[in-house]
Amino acid sequence: MAAQETVEHKYVYDFAEGNKDLKDLLGGKGANLAEMTNLGLPVPPGFTITTEACQAYLASGEQPAGLADQIAAHLAALEQGMGRRLGDPDDPLLVSVRSGAKFSMPGMMETVLNVGLNDRSVVGLAAQANGNQRFAWDSYRRLIQMFGKTVCEVPGEEFEHAIDEAKRAKGSTDDLDLDADDLRALVDTYKKIFSKHTGREFPQDPREQLDLAIGAVFDSWNAERAVIYRRQERIPADLGTAVNVVAMVFGNLGPDSGTGVAFTRDPASGAQGIYGDYLANAQGEDVVAGIRNTVPLQELERINKAAYDELLDYMARLERHYKDLCDIEFTIERGKLWMLQTRVGKRTAAAAFVIAGQLVDEGLIDLDEALHRVNGAQLAQLMFPRFQLDHGFEAVATGIGASPGAAVGKVVFTSARAVELAGQGEDVILVRRETNPDDLNGMIASRGILTSRGGKTSHAAVVARGMGKTCVSGADALDIDVPKRRFTVAGQTVTEGDVVSIDGTTGKVYLGEVPATPSEVVQYFEGELDPEATDDALVRAVHRIMSHADATRRLTVRTNADTAADAARARRFGAQGIGLCRTEHMFLGDRRELVERLILARDANERDESLAALLPLQRADFVEIFRAMDGQPVTVRLIDPPLHEFLPPLEQLAVDVAVAQERGEDVAKEEALLAAVRRMHEENPMLGLRGVRLGLVIPGLFAMQVRAITEAAVECTRQGVRACPEIMVPLVGAVQELETVRTEAEKIIAEVVGGSDVEVLIGTMIEVPRAALTAGQIAEAAEFFSFGTNDLTQMGWGFSRDDVEGAFFWRYLELGIFGISPFESIDADGIGRLVRIAAEEGRAARPGLKLGVCGEHGGDPDSVHFFHSVGLDYVSCSPFRVPVARLEAGRAAVVTAGSDSR
Ligand code: PEP
Ligand code: MG
Repeated sequence: MAAQETVEHKYVYDFAEGNKDLKDLLGGKGANLAEMTNLGLPVPPGFTITTEACQAYLASGEQPAGLADQIAAHLAALEQGMGRRLGDPDDPLLVSVRSGAKFSMPGMMETVLNVGLNDRSVVGLAAQANGNQRFAWDSYRRLIQMFGKTVCEVPGEEFEHAIDEAKRAKGSTDDLDLDADDLRALVDTYKKIFSKHTGREFPQDPREQLDLAIGAVFDSWNAERAVIYRRQERIPADLGTAVNVVAMVFGNLGPDSGTGVAFTRDPASGAQGIYGDYLANAQGEDVVAGIRNTVPLQELERINKAAYDELLDYMARLERHYKDLCDIEFTIERGKLWMLQTRVGKRTAAAAFVIAGQLVDEGLIDLDEALHRVNGAQLAQLMFPRFQLDHGFEAVATGIGASPGAAVGKVVFTSARAVELAGQGEDVILVRRETNPDDLNGMIASRGILTSRGGKTSHAAVVARGMGKTCVSGADALDIDVPKRRFTVAGQTVTEGDVVSIDGTTGKVYLGEVPATPSEVVQYFEGELDPEATDDALVRAVHRIMSHADATRRLTVRTNADTAADAARARRFGAQGIGLCRTEHMFLGDRRELVERLILARDANERDESLAALLPLQRADFVEIFRAMDGQPVTVRLIDPPLHEFLPPLEQLAVDVAVAQERGEDVAKEEALLAAVRRMHEENPMLGLRGVRLGLVIPGLFAMQVRAITEAAVECTRQGVRACPEIMVPLVGAVQELETVRTEAEKIIAEVVGGSDVEVLIGTMIEVPRAALTAGQIAEAAEFFSFGTNDLTQMGWGFSRDDVEGAFFWRYLELGIFGISPFESIDADGIGRLVRIAAEEGRAARPGLKLGVCGEHGGDPDSVHFFHSVGLDYVSCSPFRVPVARLEAGRAAVVTAGSDSR
């Protein structure tokens, strides 16, 4: 940037110059102080230094050119307005220096109060305060303490020790018992602490204090806790903070002064009313520090009725103006009310829905806006049982919150034991190093799943999310010993039958029973609570907002379901079809043997026998699913497992054979099996013989499935149940693969359908990058595409779904290479681009091509917005995510300027 431009750049805004829509530039606090000023509310005068100044400072390590002069000019105006000069020995102006980023980051950044006090102006301050020496010296010691800690990194404990020592000498525990002399002595002690740690005297020049405080607030943008908070809240790292320089008003001038916080509605439940706390004779920091007990805000009516009425009037005005819950900080200085801050207040997920509904009733917002006031993450939170607040338990381990909710139960280590104990009516938590498809029954029987390995797309995580079951994965502090049926953690041993509690939102693991509450929102989705009849405000609000989302959205929402029970539940949750029925799960359990025989068949006869045995079983599976969906489309994916999942583990088999040989047993059969397993062993099974490749290698396998699907559809139709099957071919990378499968499938379909009124579509997954890049060709042979974004992410990035999350994602998140796991939320720039290309080129080749997505991303809020923008027809997600996808699809379809439900 040219020097000329830098000088002219406006870095400082008076409160009267800003407004609430300038949050990018002035931060939330600055923009709202400006708004209140312009509304005529009593805001202490001040000015805001912009986020752009912060960005420039952080980039170069020094204040940008021109900033110092602009601060001087605004300070001069402030001094003139107040009739006082900063740090004037006789009649000082004092200012606070406060951070304020675009998004609220409570307590993460710095504030310095009482800037302008020094050895001389402290005397002037006492005079201003009618000779109140105690107040003046207390203000000065607060400045040294805050300034020392914040600006010069003096360890805060040293100041705290010193004040504790002073109180002890007085035989008291209350700050208020320290008199002016005590505080004057404390200022001396504080100054010594300051110079011991900084090698300099406490700065006496008020402007130097101000500049250093501003720099410290800028720097606090990059404090470790702020960085961690931003990462968690997905706040971009480059926004920077604004700095507000505000004339000080004092809540600690005596009993007719005080400070408080107020909410225009209850931020916990959303209930209407006045909520807040008040603390007489105190500054805001005392409230936060919890040193003294506050009283409910209503008490203020008794203490100072005029100020209370005035505050209520402002609260009502602010709510009408912002059309939302506002939270407010205020101070009363010798009876006069000052508004120090307001913002659209943070709230719980439940309050977000309830308040949005109320505001519609009150005519302040319309339903489109209400959709923007809530989000899918909040809805998801409300759909799980939750641990009660303040339960007082200490976590013994923290893993990855892989599937949310609160689960409590007895520890079991095997699937069989889980089924057995659950059968006796026990709640169990299945604890495994990692799960595999054979654990399915145990997972179904359990309240929750806890693993010591794996990430958010590990088997345990994906399956648990699909079932709506709580799961903590990758809790690597757990040392699990399955044969001994126990694990150790934090020096304690937990054996089978001991109770643990797991929180699938935070990933925390507790020993013992943490108290939990069920979700009334799920009861509503399940049809157990009538939204018209209930007096549950949350359920009524959820119903209303969901109905509007459904009426508004363009995306259809389907579900990923492999069983009739899942399908039925998903329909209750609002699914409009099945977007992915993974057939490999139908080959487990007692059918595993048939599949093993099929894979290892020595000749066509053996193979055909297995297929013939599987056909009626598969047909019955599909009949059940078609019935459950009753006329809605059902996308059945032909089998796509890595082969090894159906064969005995190689190492175990080798050991068994060697042992049997040693004993001289007849092991001819086992040896043949071992040889076959060796032959089929793959180093990278996820990139091996799976999907369409398997279908092309094992003759008759896909044909059997196509026949079973079509026969089931014909059977249902005959019985008066409409079936709309869509056969989906997995892992296609070249149109020729699809054409080969299609030619065979069409023959079978024609033969089975005969004259009956059944239509079967044939389409493909797009989950191999090559398929996305040749989508135009592939569309010639496909009636629909469904994006398999799990594999597309795996293959597009070149990292294994099963391994990488635990291995290095933490580092990538830390470095900001990605803000969130690309397995969780679609990487719009890379993998999303493949989706966009395939959608465009597919539709160009075949207008009207049906497009959907069935990877895990189909239920992720941000990804739903992306798929909406790409123009897909539907998203498909696990049953439990269906309401989330409905809501987000509605939100994506409604564009309301300036809304942000963060
Ligand atoms: C996918 O890859 O996104 C997909 C849906 O298939 P699977 O997860 O079964 O590989
Ligand atoms: Mg896949």
